Amino acid sequence: MKLSNLILKAIFFTAIISTFLAFIINTLFEYNNFLDEADQIKKDFTKQRKADLKREVNKIYNYISYNENNIIIKAKEKLRNRVNDAYSIAYKIYNKNKNIKTEKEIQYLIITTLQNITYEKDTYFFINSNEGRAILFNTNSYLNSNKNIWNLKDEKGTYFIQKQSNIALNKKEGFIDNYFIKPNTKSNKAYDKLSFIKLFEPYNWHIGMGFYIDNLTRETKIEVVDYIASIRYGREGYFFINSLDKKALIHDGKRAIPPLKYPDESLFQKQLEAIKNPDGGFFFYKFNKLNSTKKYKKLAFVKEYPKWKWIIGTGSYMDELDNELLKKQNQLKNVIIVKSSIILLIFVFLFILIYFVSKKITSFIESNIINLISLFNSASSDLKKINLNKFTFIEFRTIAKKLNKTLKLRNKAEKTVRDLLEIINKNVIISTTDAKGKIQSANDSFCKISGYTEKELIGKSHNIVRHPDMPKETYKQMWRALLNGKSWEGELKNRNKEGETYWVKATIYPIFNKGKIKGYTAIRQDITDKKRVEYLSITDELTQTYNRRYFNTKIEEEINRAKRNNYYLAFIMLDIDFFKLYNDNYGHHKGDETLIKVSQILIKHTARASDFAFRLGGEEFGILFSYKNEEDSLMYAESIRKEIEALKIEHKANEASPYLTTSLGLVVKKGKELESIDTVYKLADEALYKAKESGKNRVCVSN
Ligand code: GH3
Ligand code: MG
Ligand code: MG
Repeated sequence: MKLSNLILKAIFFTAIISTFLAFIINTLFEYNNFLDEADQIKKDFTKQRKADLKREVNKIYNYISYNENNIIIKAKEKLRNRVNDAYSIAYKIYNKNKNIKTEKEIQYLIITTLQNITYEKDTYFFINSNEGRAILFNTNSYLNSNKNIWNLKDEKGTYFIQKQSNIALNKKEGFIDNYFIKPNTKSNKAYDKLSFIKLFEPYNWHIGMGFYIDNLTRETKIEVVDYIASIRYGREGYFFINSLDKKALIHDGKRAIPPLKYPDESLFQKQLEAIKNPDGGFFFYKFNKLNSTKKYKKLAFVKEYPKWKWIIGTGSYMDELDNELLKKQNQLKNVIIVKSSIILLIFVFLFILIYFVSKKITSFIESNIINLISLFNSASSDLKKINLNKFTFIEFRTIAKKLNKTLKLRNKAEKTVRDLLEIINKNVIISTTDAKGKIQSANDSFCKISGYTEKELIGKSHNIVRHPDMPKETYKQMWRALLNGKSWEGELKNRNKEGETYWVKATIYPIFNKGKIKGYTAIRQDITDKKRVEYLSITDELTQTYNRRYFNTKIEEEINRAKRNNYYLAFIMLDIDFFKLYNDNYGHHKGDETLIKVSQILIKHTARASDFAFRLGGEEFGILFSYKNEEDSLMYAESIRKEIEALKIEHKANEASPYLTTSLGLVVKKGKELESIDTVYKLADEALYKAKESGKNRVCVSN
């Protein structure tokens, strides 16, 4: 990923995350506020409702109380008015007739008139004389019977006629409270009756009327209940009234006539519980709405009206609260939508702003990076310095400075490595092969010394440069070591494309991959010159056999080796017969050619690694070789002798043969029997002498 893209994405990502977080946090706060508010609304709503309910119930309570108190006041007013009416009627009759009619006639007129005025049940005018005679009593006229009721007592034993007369005479009018069993009833219960009496002076009467209080109360209650049942307040507010004896007077907003047995025991118990507080109490319940059967949560307030043993109450549906909350929730939703839109707008604005700003920043950074890369590339390939003025940011300039420093060091190191590699390439012959020995790579040196191109070498085995002179044994040893995972080191005689010999000192080591040999690397050093010098120093120039010096070294090594392993060591001393005469007859030059021919036979017979032919001096040669026993060794010596004679080099002066011949002295000894070089040499010399003495052209074995 490009750095500039990463920065752009990081800025965008940060902006998106921050905006999103801001939105989430804002919404959370908003929601939290809503929850608080909802809680507050619930509390306020309930509080408000409670206050409303209490106020409404108290209004009703006061209304009832007012009506109850008014019963007596109204009764008194009514009684007074009616009695005053009766008085004025009686007085008008009296005044109209006093001069034209008799007292009896007038009295009769008054009584019948008043008797005929009818009111509510048990309500009528009565007239008594202030001496205790009944005039109009229980709607009956006693005008002519002279009925004495002076000593009549009420149910509490009060002489009420006497009391009334007293009031009439002393105060002209007044109220009196008595207790009577109601007429025309079977019950013996005494009822409170309030009466008003007024003095009627013309006849020393008192006219009066009385009300049974309980009748008035009952009527008032009916009026009150009717009125309360009709009240509706607020949206769905109405009142209910139940009596303590579990009767519903107003239920479900309707007046119950006759009172209904309260239908819900547990709800009634709740009411009883709530009215234990004389100021009233609240309770929650479920109740249907007016004109519906579905039940809703409701809060109610009830209060007892003790005098009438009533429970008055009203309830309020709490679903309004839910509606209120829903309204609030919708408001919140709207607020969140508006805020979200604003945030989104801000975000879009920010997005655009950030896009351009970050684009600008990243383009700066990108141009710096591109500059850095391209300048670094050209600097590292052209070995130039990075131009520091191409950077806007200090950081990049610092990086460029550091890179310059690093480049300088790197270039230096690279040059050193290149030089070294060139030296190696020029001087060290390197090739690699696969596990089967097929060449996979060959460096310049290899190509140069072998005369092959790399293309010609690849896929071939190293046999391509193998010299036929190299003993098979050397390669066997080499492969044994390599296949065992060991490296091999040794000198190899090779042959180039032109057939020329070159020598290398090679180190070959296996290359492993996961414990398995996957190929080989060979590092070689050209030692042809060294070998040449070495060869010259141990080779006889004319015959190309080893020289005397090398013989001295070699014989010591071979004797020691034979001694170590107790092998046979055989040594032949060979001398050409009558060679002085040969020279004399055929010339020195011909003599040299003959020496070479003889040597070639010797070289041919010492091809094995363990066999050597030396020119010990003049026309005298030494052959070091190893055979298993004396017999084989003798046969070997004999074969050399025969082969030389078989060359059929003319030699007239040779007494032993028409051709050139040789005499050989052979020494064959087991390692343990060998003493010194001198002894071996001496024994061979003696054997040669013997061969010469006994007629030449033969092999003599030392005893
Ligand atoms: P014999 O059979 O007893 O060995 O007789 P001979 O003539 O070979 O005797 P001797 O060994 O004394 O002679 C060696 C001769 O070899 C002397 C010399 O003329 C000859 N000779 C020695 N070195 C060379 C050489 O490098 N080239 C030539 N052409 N002749 C050599
Ligand atoms: Mg000789
Ligand atoms: Mg000789």
